[in-house]
Amino acid sequence: MLPPETTLVAVSKFHPVEDIREALRAGQRVFGESRPQELEAKARALAEVGEPAPQWHFIGHLQTNKLKMVLPYVSMVESVDSLHLLQAIEDWGSAAGTVSDVLLEMHIAAEESKQGFAEDEILEIMFGRGKYPHVRICGLMGMATNTDDELTVDADFSRIEDFFLYLKDLFPEMEDFRELSIGMSGDWRTALRHGATIVRIGTAIFGERK
Ligand SMILES: *Cc1c(COP(=O)(O)O)cnc(C)c1O
Repeated sequence: MLPPETTLVAVSKFHPVEDIREALRAGQRVFGESRPQELEAKARALAEVGEPAPQWHFIGHLQTNKLKMVLPYVSMVESVDSLHLLQAIEDWGSAAGTVSDVLLEMHIAAEESKQGFAEDEILEIMFGRGKYPHVRICGLMGMATNTDDELTVDADFSRIEDFFLYLKDLFPEMEDFRELSIGMSGDWRTALRHGATIVRIGTAIFGERK
């Protein structure tokens, strides 16, 4: 189904801890959550499961006053969507003496309501990344327009893929900048054609969210 080099993030938001345990038993390791309280509760509930432990990616909009519920538990924040959040993650890492892995969320959908940076904002962050020594920028994340029209989704993913490759060329010294997180239950096949290294799949694994 997925090429072996692609990371599958099983999006477990709204699903109970028991479902996550079952997925862990089946060999799934990386889980995605989008609400700080829910993530913290699940991470704590599953902390006692024997090795290997789950890894968590945060994939939702994150308010800076909720950082302490998220950063101690996750291996990556995929959804950095503002300078304010980036700075807060830097400050947290500086105080805690850690470096956080993040993706910059790029706005590629037609919907204005979706989060994310524009290309020029991402460029500015990349050129100014020296200001964030406690943040490791590992790539880009994006969500395509919510539509059944494959051409639209294709165009959205093309745009982020092209920009991702452009950035890799522009910053060859950034060896950690290698992740492109695109693709959900409805569009992961299209995402793989556009070079996804991470796909975030919920419904197709756990069923409909209640
Ligand atoms: C909920 C969510 C997903 C998973 O969506 P499905 O359609 O259920 O696969 C992926 N990415 C983000 C950012 C989400 O919030």
